[in-house]
Amino acid sequence: MPKILPNSHATAFLQQSQIPSFIDGDWSTSQASLAVIDPATGASVASVAAADQAVVDQAMQAAHRAFPEWSGMPVAARAACLHRLADKIRENLETLAQLESIDVGKPIENSRGFDIPFGADCFDYFAQLSERASYTTPLELTDIDARVERKPYGPCGFIFPWNFPFTLFCWGTAPALAAGNTVVVKASEVTPLATLYLGKLIKEAGIPDGVINIFTGEGSVCGQPLAEHSLLKHMSFTGSPQIGKLIGKICGERLVPCKLELGGKGAALITHDADLAAAAEGLAAAITLNTGQVCCTATRWFVHASVQDQFTELVSAALQKTNIGSSLDEATQMGPLVSKTQLDRVTNYYQKGLAEGATAVLELEVNSDASTNSGYFLKPHLLTGDEDNICYKEEIFGPTAYIVPFDNEADAVERINRLSYGLANSVWSTDLERANQLAGKLVAGNSWINAHNVFAYGLPYGGVNLSGLGGGVNSPETFYGYLRNQTIARPL
Ligand code: NAD
Repeated sequence: MPKILPNSHATAFLQQSQIPSFIDGDWSTSQASLAVIDPATGASVASVAAADQAVVDQAMQAAHRAFPEWSGMPVAARAACLHRLADKIRENLETLAQLESIDVGKPIENSRGFDIPFGADCFDYFAQLSERASYTTPLELTDIDARVERKPYGPCGFIFPWNFPFTLFCWGTAPALAAGNTVVVKASEVTPLATLYLGKLIKEAGIPDGVINIFTGEGSVCGQPLAEHSLLKHMSFTGSPQIGKLIGKICGERLVPCKLELGGKGAALITHDADLAAAAEGLAAAITLNTGQVCCTATRWFVHASVQDQFTELVSAALQKTNIGSSLDEATQMGPLVSKTQLDRVTNYYQKGLAEGATAVLELEVNSDASTNSGYFLKPHLLTGDEDNICYKEEIFGPTAYIVPFDNEADAVERINRLSYGLANSVWSTDLERANQLAGKLVAGNSWINAHNVFAYGLPYGGVNLSGLGGGVNSPETFYGYLRNQTIARPL
């Protein structure tokens, strides 16, 4: 199948001498620039404005000024703005998908089929929810006339990672905006393209100036000042536990409510009666999706010892069939890792895992794109061994998994729960009653059965322990999380 070329809109966007920030409904250049690298070639494809503290302040001031009008707007009018933005995203799907794929290295088929349309749907979902939501609850009390009112916070800050930049932007900001908050977004400095392109669509959708502000830059230079800003009323951070803890601490100092959606080290529990072909296919897909750079993927595979050989053979065969290639090649199933840093990180983990005694079931192989002889490509690989191994314990963020045999299900559940991450696990069994019981015993925000990576609007999602606090994308809980409660009471 052919490799596509970026369309005229994507090309014109990339060819700007500097892609500016989007602040107060306008484009804003910076003195400093950052190069954006296409991980399929290792070449620079664009230059973006690198925001500093002054840009953060302009964005926060704009969001503060825009808040009274946006929050005071009739809910239906606000929802109409968000539906228009969803429509604009769908109209520009191909351009956004191309930018997202060039930037992250993900296959164009995935950006077209999931990242962009699922992001657009999010604005529709939360706009509809906002129109059905309850903003006042009367209280039935003796001798007091009282009610609870739900109100937006004000300017909300968002800091996003590089792995699903567009979808996470939509999942993160849509509920906050629908609830009447204004937003200031620090996009990942590694993958900011599709998020910055949104500035154009936000303008075309007629969203008032200052309601959505977007910039990118180094985290310590413009992310930290955002979390520290005196006008900030709510903070949402998605990224590593290490930076998440720092953001939580900064917000804690000023008691700014803070939502943290952090990393994971998910497990898959494959029981003796699992449909092994389905488990092999599902888990091979889970670790190759986005080249394994997925927070909720399953990278610890607990396999019943009686089926270990059969499962390993099936999953190895499925992984070896993965079509690895450039993100803009229509036939690609798995693209490169996002950066040289990430390629080095994954290969270092593999080497350390072997040095600590793990055995390679499927060896790691770095391979360049045959057409360009460059890029950050790597084949999926598997290790097995005991649990006292760095590759078992730490989040690697690559197309890799660590196989651990077990004999007793209760013991396996206890071992899975021993790590401090708690994002997403899955249970694979044909006995649905037992599978449901096992799923309930795994300590995490999400337990999936006979599938891994289950997302839908209306299905809450979040993490516990080292995986975060107060998640809940795609659900009413997320929407209500962006409204503060206020009790109004009068003694009778
Ligand atoms: P990261 O924590 O390094 O960076 C995330 C964001 O924080 C980036 O925009 C970065 O610039 C910014 N940042 C860095 N230092 C900062 C500082 N001192 N102050 C403020 N901001 C700062 O994470 P990453 O490498 O971009 O992404 C990978 C991580 O994200 C993984 O751990 C992954 O599991 C996690 N993640 C979690 C979810 C979820 O929903 N739970 C979703 C996607 C990714």
